[in-house]
Amino acid sequence: MMFYSFCRQWLPGSAGRLAAVLALALLAACAPRIVAPVAVAPRPAPPPLSAPQGLACYEALGAQGAAFEPAALPATAGGCHVAEAVILTRLRAALDKPATMACPLAVALADFEAQIIQPAAHRHFGHRVTMIRHYGAYGCRTINGTRKLSQHAFGRAIDISGFDLADGTRIDVKRDWRNAGARTRFLHEVARAACDSFGVVLTPNRDRSHDGHLHLDIGPDQLCGY
Ligand SMILES: [Zn+2]
Repeated sequence: MMFYSFCRQWLPGSAGRLAAVLALALLAACAPRIVAPVAVAPRPAPPPLSAPQGLACYEALGAQGAAFEPAALPATAGGCHVAEAVILTRLRAALDKPATMACPLAVALADFEAQIIQPAAHRHFGHRVTMIRHYGAYGCRTINGTRKLSQHAFGRAIDISGFDLADGTRIDVKRDWRNAGARTRFLHEVARAACDSFGVVLTPNRDRSHDGHLHLDIGPDQLCGY
């Protein structure tokens, strides 16, 4: 663009002093370039959190400081199964009870805790989260009102019901989601951010069946139910 402006400014006055060949060369250089339009692909939906598979997943989870045991979970007759199952007992914060899930979900949770949950707790309260409360991860069941297996049936979803902080503060989704104050702001910030990190996020905003917890799963579906 700068070269094109230079040509427009100087070429008419100086053309007479230039050799005809040079002028023609300059004119050719100043001709607008025809650029073929570049096809822009529609922006795809954000992919589910990518997580390492197989042994690499266990190694990644260990490197994040999580406490867990690999578990063997045979497939059920109904089609429920968990690939690379782990029994997770703590991330940086402890889980209030062990949770059985697929290793990639555990890695996604570890990332989400480190990048979103703990920093938000420090910002809102000046304390770290010491306990993550949940209603369960793996569960052989269908999506409410359908015959389709839930991501819980594959250990790829967890229902988080609250958080405890180092000073003893309890943050409870059922009690605090619709209140005002720091607990509510914290929960909403975490839920909003979860939509950027997980495939499906369901909150009390979604329906009554999610009144007391945040459902987080790693896809393949994409839905932000915030
Ligand atoms: Zn759920």
